[in-house]
Amino acid sequence: MRHALQVAKVRGIPIRVHWSFGLLVILVVMVQVGSGTVAAMGAVLWLVLLFASVVFHELAHCLVARRRGIDVRDIVLLPIGGASEIPDLARTPEDELHIAVAGPLSSLVLAVILGAVSVVTGGRLWPPTLTAGGLLVDLAWVNVVLAGFNLLPALPMDGGRVLRSVLTRFRPEPRATAIAVRVGQAFGFAMVLFGVFVDLWLVLIGLFVLFGARSEGRAALVHSALGNRRVGDLPMTRPVILPAWMPVGDAVGSLGNLPGLTVVVVHQGSYLGLLTSERLATAAHDVAIGSVADRGAPLLDPTAPLFPAALDAFGRARSRSLAVGTDGRVSGMVAAGDVEAILHRTAAVPG
Ligand SMILES: [Zn+2]
Repeated sequence: MRHALQVAKVRGIPIRVHWSFGLLVILVVMVQVGSGTVAAMGAVLWLVLLFASVVFHELAHCLVARRRGIDVRDIVLLPIGGASEIPDLARTPEDELHIAVAGPLSSLVLAVILGAVSVVTGGRLWPPTLTAGGLLVDLAWVNVVLAGFNLLPALPMDGGRVLRSVLTRFRPEPRATAIAVRVGQAFGFAMVLFGVFVDLWLVLIGLFVLFGARSEGRAALVHSALGNRRVGDLPMTRPVILPAWMPVGDAVGSLGNLPGLTVVVVHQGSYLGLLTSERLATAAHDVAIGSVADRGAPLLDPTAPLFPAALDAFGRARSRSLAVGTDGRVSGMVAAGDVEAILHRTAAVPG
C-alpha cells in the first residue's frame, strides 16, 4: 500500500503505518489535551496498545500464510484496523480457512492471557468494559471485540473468508465468492444505516466493508478468469528492438509515424526499457533513445502468472504493451488488450 511508513519488521514482514493514522493520533491528542497532558499521553499510549493488538492479529494471519507457502508483502495499519497484504488470493479454500481463522483465534488467545494476568494482579473482568477496568482489563476486552468483530461473516472480514471457504464445499468457487460478497455488502449496508443513528465510526467501518466486499468480488472474478494462465500463454508479437545509443532523430527516421508502437530499447543486447512512439515524438532529436526510454518498465518472465504479477505490471505500465523475456533477452511483446479480452470473455468483468 502506498503512503505508508515502515515502523518495524517482524520475522521479515514489514509493518507499515498509513499516513492517515497520524491524523488519528493528532485527533486523539486534540480531544484529550483539554483534560491535561497526562490524559493526552495516556490516550496515545492506549492507541499504541490497541494497534499492537491489531498487529498481533495481523501477524497471526501472515505467519500462517507464510507457513503454507504463500508470500506476504507487508502489514499496513489504518485508522480502522490492520490489513495484511497477502498478494495472491489464498491458493486453496483450505489455505484461506486456516489463514482467516488464525487472526481472531490469536486475538482470543491474547485476550485470555491479558485477562488472566489482570485477574492475578487484582483486576475485575466482569462486567465487560473497554474504558473503565484498568489498562489490562480494557485491553483484554478490546481483543475479544477484535476477534468477534472480525468473525462477522462479511467479506473482506475474516468471517467472510471463512464463510466463502466453507461455501466452496457445496458450491463452485465463483458462486461461493458471489454469495459471500452479497452477505458482506448486506452487512456493510446495515452497519452504515445503523451507524448513522449510533456511531459515526460504525459508518466508516460499514463503508470499508461495503467497498471491500465489492473489490474482493472483482478480484476473485479476475482470479478465476485468469486462473493458472501465464504470460507465455498470451499471443506474442515480434518486438521492434533498437540500441540505446541510437539518437532519437534516427529512430524517428527509421520507424516513421506509428501511433501506438512500443519499442524495446537494449544496451549491449540486454533489455533496458521501453519507448512509446508518443514519447519518441516529443523527445529532442539529438539525444540517445536510452536516455528517454522508460527504464522502470518490467521485462515479464514467460513463466510469470497473469494473476497477479502480469496484471500488476500492466496496471503500473505507461505503455499498453510489455516485453517478455528471460535474463535480459527479449523474446516478444504482449499487449494489455489481450489480458482484457480474456477477462471479458471468461468472466463478465465490467471494464
Ligand atoms: Zn483478521
